[in-house]
Amino acid sequence: MGFHPDMAKNEHLKAAKDGLDVWGDIATFAAKGYASIPDDDFPRLRWYGIYQQKPNEGHFMWRIKLPGGRVTPQQAVELAKVADKFGRGIVDITTRQDVQFHWMTIEDFPEALDRVYNRAGLYVDFACGDTPRNVCSCTLDGMLPTEMFPLGNLVQKLSDLYKAAGKELSNLPRKFKTSISTCPLHCHQPQINDLSAFGVIREDGSRGLGVMVGGGLSSTPHFAQSLRVFVPQADVQRVIPDIWYHVCCIFRDADELRYKRKRARIKFLVADKGWQWVRDELERRLGYLLIHDESIINPRGAMHTDHVGVGDQLDPRVSPADPSATARLKYVGVPVSRGRLRAEQFAAIGELAARFAAGGVAGGLGEIRLSQKQNLVLMNIDPVGLPALLKELEQIGLPAVAPAWRRSLVSCTGGQFCNLAVVETKERSREILRHLEETVGIDVPFMLSISGCANACAQFQVADIGMTGTKVLYNGQKVDAFDILMGGQMGDVPRFGREVLEKVPSPVVHQVLERVTRAYMENRIVTIEGDKESFADFSERIDDAQFQAWAQVPPREVRAPTGADAAV
Ligand code: SF4
Repeated sequence: MGFHPDMAKNEHLKAAKDGLDVWGDIATFAAKGYASIPDDDFPRLRWYGIYQQKPNEGHFMWRIKLPGGRVTPQQAVELAKVADKFGRGIVDITTRQDVQFHWMTIEDFPEALDRVYNRAGLYVDFACGDTPRNVCSCTLDGMLPTEMFPLGNLVQKLSDLYKAAGKELSNLPRKFKTSISTCPLHCHQPQINDLSAFGVIREDGSRGLGVMVGGGLSSTPHFAQSLRVFVPQADVQRVIPDIWYHVCCIFRDADELRYKRKRARIKFLVADKGWQWVRDELERRLGYLLIHDESIINPRGAMHTDHVGVGDQLDPRVSPADPSATARLKYVGVPVSRGRLRAEQFAAIGELAARFAAGGVAGGLGEIRLSQKQNLVLMNIDPVGLPALLKELEQIGLPAVAPAWRRSLVSCTGGQFCNLAVVETKERSREILRHLEETVGIDVPFMLSISGCANACAQFQVADIGMTGTKVLYNGQKVDAFDILMGGQMGDVPRFGREVLEKVPSPVVHQVLERVTRAYMENRIVTIEGDKESFADFSERIDDAQFQAWAQVPPREVRAPTGADAAV
């Protein structure tokens, strides 16, 4: 790795002081106050998930990384305490299975860090910054009766591997996102990660993982490309950590990416040099050849699901080979409106997860999983207590049985806290949700995504309906608006949504969504067997003009010329 003065500004910062080295300064900043933080150290604080909050006048967002979205009941209660004491009671679930707190001050961090590291047993190293980020997985990883084979604790192991690497991997050209699962629905979104692995069953019945690189959304979306390799089930625990380490190193060493920050993701390296180059380079660094399989191109499936609902799961106390392993326990998925919880709700979830798990609190089987669709799942629930659990969930304002929209809507942080936002998202999402729940029922897996800007934290390009923030003139005022994309999907025929509606003013966007989704429900194809056409397929069949006719977006207003315009 060689620094060059022509590299992007952030490279100068990282060369001057490693992001991890800000750790020792946090206590000093806390003692001396916000004004004592040097400008150059604000970006470095991100290495521990600490991010300046709009309008950069003393508050921070704090991201807690949770590999695979897994949280114990005790951890949930401890995190809720942090949110309650320091974060004005807000807990946001992110699309990468993290939680985020807002309104933190620098003075809060010594105690908050102590609570997270020493009481909750979690860590935030590499929660943000130019680092390997949270490792994502299927919400039911290891517990899904239909998963192709178990991965054991591999997700945590991969996260720990990155943490242990420390400064070896603390200066990447930019962020590096990974995901791994053997979920047959590929809900872990392998095609939009920098590096991912997904379950494969080959024609001869052999099971293993395929590996992809170079996926990512933001303003220049790319789907990941398969390395056309097969990692047999028996080799997974040995080979996958090697791949996770070495692909990250290939990215780290790609100095050519460090000159333009907007082109600093591995997706550009893969696009420029090709997946074959990545595979050759990976094998060179591994010192052994992988099994090549040209037939492994895309995961077959990749549904917009996170297993919310009540379902059967494997019993962790019994071997998966035992037929009774599936019948004993339930998971209970809870839709979380736009991914936002109150701290007391999160604490209550922790308490319920412990109390209603098989064996009760003493049994120690309580567990919560946060999903990439910003929902949560209570694991290992004893079926006997299920009716009481459902009732108590309702009492805390988190009913497990709710209109499908609630689990379908994904919303980024937006204008309330995010410096990059063009529009507000969380409150708008609440209004949209309320309206759609009252007016249109949906009965298929669906993703409605609301992003405050083109950075796509809510993944709008792969949603059935994806919205990204803009501005427009409406009733003579400049207001928040959304460009609306339709028909994004992942899986064997991946495609990004196409922009169908432009600059829909936010005061009417809920009605536009109602009209479009109602049209889908009324005009989709349903086979005599009852199979329903997906919204993505429907969008391929319906042209823009028809969607626009259904949508009835108000005509675009043009600002009347002013004297200043005339002078120009
Ligand atoms: Fe902020 Fe844009 Fe990401 Fe939303 S999509 S959280 S507005 S950067």
